[in-house]
Amino acid sequence: MVELVSREPVVRAEEARELAGDLVVLPNRGVDLVPNIGVIGGTRAVLVVDTGMGPGNGDAVFEFVADYARGREIYLTTTHFHPEHAFGAQSFSGAATFLVNRAQADDLAAKGAGYLDMFRGLGEPVARQLEGVELVTPDLVYDDSHELDLGGRVVRLRATGRAHSRGDQVITVPDAGVLFTGDLVETGQFAIFPWFPPHDTDVSGIRWIEVLRKLADEHPRIVVPGHGDTGGHGLLADVRDYLALLRDETWVRRDSAMGREEVVEEVTALMLERHPEWAGREWIEPGVGCLCAEHAQR
Ligand SMILES: [Zn+2]
Repeated sequence: MVELVSREPVVRAEEARELAGDLVVLPNRGVDLVPNIGVIGGTRAVLVVDTGMGPGNGDAVFEFVADYARGREIYLTTTHFHPEHAFGAQSFSGAATFLVNRAQADDLAAKGAGYLDMFRGLGEPVARQLEGVELVTPDLVYDDSHELDLGGRVVRLRATGRAHSRGDQVITVPDAGVLFTGDLVETGQFAIFPWFPPHDTDVSGIRWIEVLRKLADEHPRIVVPGHGDTGGHGLLADVRDYLALLRDETWVRRDSAMGREEVVEEVTALMLERHPEWAGREWIEPGVGCLCAEHAQR
Protein backbone atom coordinates (compact mmCIF):
# COMPACT_ATOMS: atom_id res chain seq x y z
CA MET A 1 0.00 0.00 0.00
CA VAL A 2 1.93 3.02 1.25
CA GLU A 3 5.68 2.82 1.68
CA LEU A 4 7.33 3.46 5.00
CA VAL A 5 8.50 7.02 5.44
CA SER A 6 12.07 7.39 6.66
CA ARG A 7 12.63 11.16 6.67
CA GLU A 8 11.20 13.15 9.55
CA PRO A 9 8.12 14.95 8.17
CA VAL A 10 8.90 18.36 9.63
CA VAL A 11 7.69 21.77 8.43
CA ARG A 12 10.44 24.40 8.23
CA ALA A 13 8.72 27.71 8.84
CA GLU A 14 12.01 29.61 8.51
CA GLU A 15 12.02 28.76 4.81
CA ALA A 16 8.88 30.79 4.16
CA ARG A 17 8.86 32.35 0.72
CA GLU A 18 6.81 35.32 -0.51
CA LEU A 19 4.76 34.49 -3.63
CA ALA A 20 2.90 37.80 -3.84
CA GLY A 21 2.29 40.81 -1.59
CA ASP A 22 1.37 39.58 1.90
CA LEU A 23 1.15 35.99 0.68
CA VAL A 24 3.77 33.43 1.72
CA VAL A 25 4.26 29.71 1.32
CA LEU A 26 6.16 27.42 3.68
CA PRO A 27 7.45 25.04 1.01
CA ASN A 28 7.52 21.28 1.58
CA ARG A 29 11.10 21.02 0.21
CA GLY A 30 10.29 17.66 -1.38
CA VAL A 31 9.84 15.98 2.02
CA ASP A 32 7.21 13.21 2.12
CA LEU A 33 4.19 13.97 4.29
CA VAL A 34 5.02 17.66 4.54
CA PRO A 35 2.52 19.83 2.64
CA ASN A 36 2.97 23.26 1.14
CA ILE A 37 1.44 25.65 3.65
CA GLY A 38 0.03 29.04 2.69
CA VAL A 39 -0.42 32.23 4.70
CA ILE A 40 -2.53 34.95 3.04
CA GLY A 41 -2.87 38.37 4.62
CA GLY A 42 -5.30 41.27 4.41
CA THR A 43 -5.50 44.43 6.49
CA ARG A 44 -7.81 42.83 9.05
CA ALA A 45 -7.00 39.13 9.10
CA VAL A 46 -4.78 36.33 7.80
CA LEU A 47 -5.82 32.94 6.45
CA VAL A 48 -3.63 29.85 6.92
CA VAL A 49 -3.99 27.00 4.43
CA ASP A 50 -3.02 23.58 5.92
CA THR A 51 -1.20 22.84 9.16
CA GLY A 52 1.42 20.13 8.72
CA MET A 53 1.10 16.81 10.55
CA GLY A 54 0.77 16.61 14.32
CA PRO A 55 1.06 19.11 17.17
CA GLY A 56 4.81 19.74 16.75
CA ASN A 57 4.34 20.91 13.18
CA GLY A 58 1.08 22.66 14.05
CA ASP A 59 2.84 24.58 16.83
CA ALA A 60 5.68 25.62 14.51
CA VAL A 61 3.22 26.85 11.88
CA PHE A 62 1.09 28.62 14.47
CA GLU A 63 4.12 30.35 15.96
CA PHE A 64 5.16 31.58 12.51
CA VAL A 65 1.63 32.75 11.74
CA ALA A 66 1.10 34.50 15.07
CA ASP A 67 4.27 36.49 14.42
CA TYR A 68 3.37 37.13 10.76
CA ALA A 69 -0.18 38.25 11.66
CA ARG A 70 1.04 41.04 13.97
CA GLY A 71 -2.25 41.26 15.81
CA ARG A 72 -4.49 40.53 12.85
CA GLU A 73 -7.26 37.98 13.34
CA ILE A 74 -6.28 34.42 12.30
CA TYR A 75 -8.35 32.02 10.20
CA LEU A 76 -7.35 28.45 9.46
CA THR A 77 -8.55 26.24 6.66
CA THR A 78 -7.37 22.87 5.34
CA THR A 79 -7.49 21.63 1.75
CA HIS A 80 -8.75 18.18 2.82
CA PHE A 81 -8.75 16.02 5.94
CA HIS A 82 -5.58 13.96 5.31
CA PRO A 83 -3.20 13.94 8.31
CA GLU A 84 -0.30 15.97 6.88
CA HIS A 85 -2.71 18.68 5.75
CA ALA A 86 -5.08 18.90 8.70
CA PHE A 87 -3.82 17.05 11.78
CA GLY A 88 -2.02 20.04 13.26
CA ALA A 89 -5.21 22.07 13.66
CA GLN A 90 -5.27 21.69 17.45
CA SER A 91 -2.36 24.16 17.70
CA PHE A 92 -4.73 26.88 16.45
CA SER A 93 -7.57 26.07 18.87
CA GLY A 94 -8.85 29.10 20.72
CA ALA A 95 -6.57 31.45 18.76
CA ALA A 96 -8.01 31.08 15.26
CA THR A 97 -11.30 30.43 13.51
CA PHE A 98 -11.12 27.05 11.76
CA LEU A 99 -13.37 26.89 8.71
CA VAL A 100 -13.85 24.25 6.02
CA ASN A 101 -16.38 22.96 3.51
CA ARG A 102 -19.04 20.59 4.81
CA ALA A 103 -17.92 17.53 2.83
CA GLN A 104 -14.46 17.87 4.35
CA ALA A 105 -15.84 18.26 7.88
CA ASP A 106 -17.87 15.08 7.29
CA ASP A 107 -14.80 13.29 5.91
CA LEU A 108 -12.79 14.23 9.01
CA ALA A 109 -15.55 13.09 11.35
CA ALA A 110 -16.04 9.79 9.52
CA LYS A 111 -12.45 8.85 8.70
CA GLY A 112 -10.09 10.99 10.80
CA ALA A 113 -9.52 8.38 13.52
CA GLY A 114 -9.00 5.59 10.97
CA TYR A 115 -6.39 7.64 9.10
CA LEU A 116 -4.63 8.43 12.36
CA ASP A 117 -4.22 4.67 12.97
CA MET A 118 -3.20 3.98 9.39
CA PHE A 119 -0.58 6.75 9.35
CA ARG A 120 0.88 5.63 12.68
CA GLY A 121 1.79 2.42 10.85
CA LEU A 122 3.87 4.31 8.27
CA GLY A 123 7.03 4.21 10.38
CA GLU A 124 8.59 5.68 13.48
CA PRO A 125 9.10 9.27 12.16
CA VAL A 126 5.41 9.56 11.27
CA ALA A 127 4.21 7.96 14.51
CA ARG A 128 6.42 10.41 16.42
CA GLN A 129 4.84 13.43 14.72
CA LEU A 130 1.36 12.04 15.34
CA GLU A 131 1.88 11.65 19.09
CA GLY A 132 -0.71 13.63 21.00
CA VAL A 133 -2.89 14.42 17.97
CA GLU A 134 -6.39 15.53 18.82
CA LEU A 135 -8.88 15.84 15.99
CA VAL A 136 -10.47 19.26 16.01
CA THR A 137 -14.01 20.05 14.94
CA PRO A 138 -14.16 23.09 12.61
CA ASP A 139 -15.71 26.28 14.04
CA LEU A 140 -17.41 27.24 10.78
CA VAL A 141 -18.66 25.03 7.97
CA TYR A 142 -19.91 26.16 4.55
CA ASP A 143 -21.60 24.14 1.82
CA ASP A 144 -20.31 25.00 -1.68
CA SER A 145 -18.30 28.20 -1.53
CA HIS A 146 -17.36 30.93 0.91
CA GLU A 147 -15.85 34.37 0.43
CA LEU A 148 -13.61 35.41 3.28
CA ASP A 149 -12.87 39.13 3.53
CA LEU A 150 -9.41 39.56 5.05
CA GLY A 151 -9.61 43.35 4.72
CA GLY A 152 -8.81 44.80 1.30
CA ARG A 153 -8.51 41.25 0.00
CA VAL A 154 -11.25 38.69 -0.51
CA VAL A 155 -10.24 35.04 -0.63
CA ARG A 156 -12.50 32.41 -2.14
CA LEU A 157 -12.88 28.95 -0.60
CA ARG A 158 -14.65 26.33 -2.70
CA ALA A 159 -15.60 22.68 -2.41
CA THR A 160 -14.71 20.89 -5.64
CA GLY A 161 -16.75 17.76 -5.02
CA ARG A 162 -15.22 14.30 -4.76
CA ALA A 163 -11.83 13.93 -6.48
CA HIS A 164 -8.64 13.15 -4.49
CA SER A 165 -10.91 12.78 -1.45
CA ARG A 166 -14.62 13.20 -0.77
CA GLY A 167 -14.14 16.67 0.69
CA ASP A 168 -11.50 18.46 -1.39
CA GLN A 169 -11.40 22.23 -1.19
CA VAL A 170 -9.46 24.79 -3.25
CA ILE A 171 -8.55 28.31 -2.15
CA THR A 172 -8.23 31.17 -4.61
CA VAL A 173 -6.64 34.58 -4.04
CA PRO A 174 -8.04 36.48 -7.05
CA ASP A 175 -6.00 39.70 -6.69
CA ALA A 176 -2.77 37.69 -6.82
CA GLY A 177 -3.92 35.00 -9.27
CA VAL A 178 -2.97 32.27 -6.78
CA LEU A 179 -4.67 28.89 -6.44
CA PHE A 180 -4.05 26.45 -3.58
CA THR A 181 -5.05 22.97 -4.76
CA GLY A 182 -4.16 20.61 -1.93
CA ASP A 183 -3.51 17.12 -3.25
CA LEU A 184 -5.50 17.68 -6.45
CA VAL A 185 -2.07 18.67 -7.80
CA GLU A 186 1.42 17.46 -6.89
CA THR A 187 4.56 18.51 -8.74
CA GLY A 188 7.15 15.94 -9.76
CA GLN A 189 5.28 12.90 -8.56
CA PHE A 190 2.51 10.50 -9.53
CA ALA A 191 -0.94 11.59 -8.38
CA ILE A 192 -1.76 10.29 -4.90
CA PHE A 193 -4.72 7.89 -5.01
CA PRO A 194 -5.89 7.12 -1.48
CA TRP A 195 -7.65 4.01 -2.81
CA PHE A 196 -7.74 1.72 0.22
CA PRO A 197 -10.58 -0.75 -0.30
CA PRO A 198 -12.61 -1.63 1.68
CA HIS A 199 -11.83 1.20 4.14
CA ASP A 200 -11.72 4.19 1.81
CA THR A 201 -12.79 4.19 -1.83
CA ASP A 202 -13.87 7.83 -2.06
CA VAL A 203 -11.16 8.94 -4.52
CA SER A 204 -12.51 9.28 -8.07
CA GLY A 205 -10.14 9.48 -11.02
CA ILE A 206 -12.98 10.49 -13.33
CA ARG A 207 -14.25 13.34 -11.19
CA TRP A 208 -10.64 14.41 -10.50
CA ILE A 209 -10.01 14.88 -14.25
CA GLU A 210 -13.18 16.96 -14.50
CA VAL A 211 -12.25 19.13 -11.51
CA LEU A 212 -8.81 19.86 -12.99
CA ARG A 213 -10.35 20.72 -16.36
CA LYS A 214 -12.58 23.33 -14.71
CA LEU A 215 -9.75 24.78 -12.60
CA ALA A 216 -7.50 25.02 -15.68
CA ASP A 217 -10.23 27.05 -17.44
CA GLU A 218 -9.78 29.72 -14.75
CA HIS A 219 -6.10 30.22 -15.74
CA PRO A 220 -4.62 30.92 -12.31
CA ARG A 221 -1.24 32.63 -12.53
CA ILE A 222 0.35 30.65 -9.71
CA VAL A 223 -0.60 27.15 -8.58
CA VAL A 224 0.49 25.97 -5.13
CA PRO A 225 0.25 22.18 -5.14
CA GLY A 226 -0.27 19.97 -2.09
CA HIS A 227 3.31 18.73 -2.39
CA GLY A 228 6.22 19.73 -4.65
CA ASP A 229 7.26 22.96 -6.31
CA THR A 230 4.90 25.86 -6.89
CA GLY A 231 4.37 26.59 -10.60
CA GLY A 232 2.16 28.16 -13.23
CA HIS A 233 -1.28 27.07 -14.41
CA GLY A 234 0.38 24.41 -16.60
CA LEU A 235 0.63 22.24 -13.47
CA LEU A 236 -3.12 21.67 -13.70
CA ALA A 237 -2.81 20.41 -17.28
CA ASP A 238 0.15 18.18 -16.37
CA VAL A 239 -1.83 16.33 -13.71
CA ARG A 240 -4.99 16.21 -15.81
CA ASP A 241 -3.03 14.74 -18.74
CA TYR A 242 -1.46 12.12 -16.49
CA LEU A 243 -4.83 11.14 -15.03
CA ALA A 244 -6.46 11.00 -18.48
CA LEU A 245 -3.64 8.78 -19.77
CA LEU A 246 -3.92 6.55 -16.70
CA ARG A 247 -7.69 6.26 -17.33
CA ASP A 248 -7.36 5.60 -21.06
CA GLU A 249 -4.61 3.00 -20.72
CA THR A 250 -6.47 1.25 -17.91
CA TRP A 251 -9.86 1.30 -19.62
CA VAL A 252 -8.65 0.10 -23.03
CA ARG A 253 -7.22 -2.98 -21.29
CA ARG A 254 -10.35 -3.56 -19.23
CA ASP A 255 -12.41 -3.25 -22.42
CA SER A 256 -10.51 -6.24 -23.73
CA ALA A 257 -11.20 -8.07 -20.44
CA MET A 258 -7.54 -8.15 -19.38
CA GLY A 259 -7.11 -9.25 -15.74
CA ARG A 260 -6.51 -6.61 -13.09
CA GLU A 261 -2.96 -7.73 -12.28
CA GLU A 262 -1.87 -7.65 -15.87
CA VAL A 263 -3.43 -4.21 -16.30
CA VAL A 264 -1.50 -2.95 -13.26
CA GLU A 265 1.73 -4.38 -14.60
CA GLU A 266 1.38 -2.98 -18.13
CA VAL A 267 0.05 0.43 -17.14
CA THR A 268 2.70 0.86 -14.42
CA ALA A 269 5.47 0.13 -16.92
CA LEU A 270 3.97 2.66 -19.36
CA MET A 271 3.66 5.40 -16.76
CA LEU A 272 7.22 4.89 -15.50
CA GLU A 273 8.44 5.14 -19.08
CA ARG A 274 6.46 8.36 -19.55
CA HIS A 275 7.60 9.97 -16.28
CA PRO A 276 10.89 8.34 -15.27
CA GLU A 277 11.81 11.28 -13.03
CA TRP A 278 8.60 11.34 -10.97
CA ALA A 279 8.51 10.15 -7.35
CA GLY A 280 5.63 8.30 -5.67
CA ARG A 281 5.65 5.24 -7.94
CA GLU A 282 3.66 3.32 -5.35
CA TRP A 283 0.63 5.47 -6.21
CA ILE A 284 0.26 4.15 -9.77
CA GLU A 285 -1.23 0.82 -8.69
CA PRO A 286 -3.99 2.28 -6.47
CA GLY A 287 -4.75 4.67 -9.32
CA VAL A 288 -5.26 1.76 -11.70
CA GLY A 289 -7.36 0.01 -9.04
CA CYS A 290 -9.61 3.04 -8.66
CA LEU A 291 -10.02 3.42 -12.42
CA CYS A 292 -10.77 -0.30 -12.84
CA ALA A 293 -13.61 0.12 -10.34
CA GLU A 294 -14.86 3.21 -12.16
CA HIS A 295 -14.65 1.34 -15.47
CA ALA A 296 -16.94 -1.34 -14.02
CA GLN A 297 -19.42 1.32 -12.84
CA ARG A 298 -19.77 3.08 -16.19
ZN1 LIG B 1 -4.23 13.93 0.46
